[in-house]
Amino acid sequence: MPPAHPFDDDKLKEECGIFGVVGVTDAANFVALGLHALQHRGQEAGGIVSHHPDHGFNSARRFGYVRDNFTSQKLMETLPGELAIGHVRYSTAGSKGQTQIRDVQPFFGEFSMGGAAIAHNGNITNADALRRELIERGSIFQSSSDSECIIHLMARSLQRNIPERMEDALRRVEGAFSVVAMTRTKLIGVRDPLGVRPLVLGKIGDGWALSSETCALDIIGADYVREIEPGEMVVITAEHGVESIRPFRPQKSRFCIFEHVYFSRPDSIIGDRSVYETRRQIGVELARETSVEADLVCPVPDSGTPAAIGYAHESGIPYGMGIIRNQYMGRTFIEPTEQIRNMGVRLKLNVNRALIKGKRVILVDDSVVRGTTSRKIKEMILDAGAAEVHFRIASPTAWPCFYGVDTPQREKLLAATMSEDEMREHLGVDSLKFISLDGLYRAVGEASGRDPKSPQYCDACFSGEYPVKPSDMVEKGFQMKAAE
Ligand code: SF4
Repeated sequence: MPPAHPFDDDKLKEECGIFGVVGVTDAANFVALGLHALQHRGQEAGGIVSHHPDHGFNSARRFGYVRDNFTSQKLMETLPGELAIGHVRYSTAGSKGQTQIRDVQPFFGEFSMGGAAIAHNGNITNADALRRELIERGSIFQSSSDSECIIHLMARSLQRNIPERMEDALRRVEGAFSVVAMTRTKLIGVRDPLGVRPLVLGKIGDGWALSSETCALDIIGADYVREIEPGEMVVITAEHGVESIRPFRPQKSRFCIFEHVYFSRPDSIIGDRSVYETRRQIGVELARETSVEADLVCPVPDSGTPAAIGYAHESGIPYGMGIIRNQYMGRTFIEPTEQIRNMGVRLKLNVNRALIKGKRVILVDDSVVRGTTSRKIKEMILDAGAAEVHFRIASPTAWPCFYGVDTPQREKLLAATMSEDEMREHLGVDSLKFISLDGLYRAVGEASGRDPKSPQYCDACFSGEYPVKPSDMVEKGFQMKAAE
């Protein structure tokens, strides 16, 4: 298994990336490449299922990085065919921190009309209730993953074919889901009615691809066609192309705004907007809202970089790489001893003393979760002789996400327990400011900011306003924010 990042526990983590291809020779190789490009969405484990008319369904599921598993010719030869799907995973639902191979997707089910495999990105917020009901009615679960509910709901459906059974199953599911699935001949993609998690369609030669992000289409040389729309199901065959179905009652979309801020790769395109450009614009808005006199704007690498570039541009304060990231910190140095692990941030980041010394420094980061990393970075900057340290943050995370992103409990989120001023004192910096929610919305292209009556995005981890009630969590005692 890949090593823990030294400050992994102080960043939010996307749970999954999904990818599928139909109509190309050796489809599994394309899927492996696509998953490699989506590795930032999940590093714990990955899996691929393929289908070949003579060899049937085949699958491989492994712990660790895609590049360490799915580059083996021997393994890839066991995944023949022109149709394949895959999944990379970071666990939250299921056996968190102790993933078993049985929890690694894609999941597979054998039905009377043939087999089907599914890979799911998101989180089913009524999975506990569904699982209880399904077990009472005789289903035997193989994994601890919420996604397996979809297979069992499909098995109970009376519809005649697999896409219709999948429609039936997904109508029972609440929460966030982007799904890539396959039968013997069809590649299927679905987004939940709110379109919380992303899914895009690409064209490669005579074939088609589905992916969590456009950056994975680029790696296989596929052309971006369009996003799968919220509430849309596409059923794709090499012969007949893309059939679009609308299985759900139409709703106003609520895409995850955090995909723009942090999760998606900066070279991806979301809703016709470059993620890089959006992040740069977040920096512009931050500078407009939170100006302070300073000598240098520094990103916290790497995710804070585009916002810092935008901040520097808008404020006129010079931009500099005051913190340098060690690109080659590998597992060798991380695993052996607790002592080395405790060196934490210093293993990964170092301060550019010559640039920092004597300067009033603005540090721009994409998020503050627990604040442990921010404190250490501040100490490093002051040790290097900075005159002042000002934090500017691109997102005020104050509530947990229940839609497929790993967040600590609310009590552990710094922004949930302290005011901005208390956080400034806690982190020991000269000033600390977050972008406003309106500023964030302007940065993603909503010129009038957030519509409080009908928000354009899911922003629950900032606002506490959940577009889908997290029923399982409420049953376990989670306190929703009182309506205003
Ligand atoms: S709660 Fe936050 S991270 Fe989760 S889907 Fe909504 S905006 Fe995205």
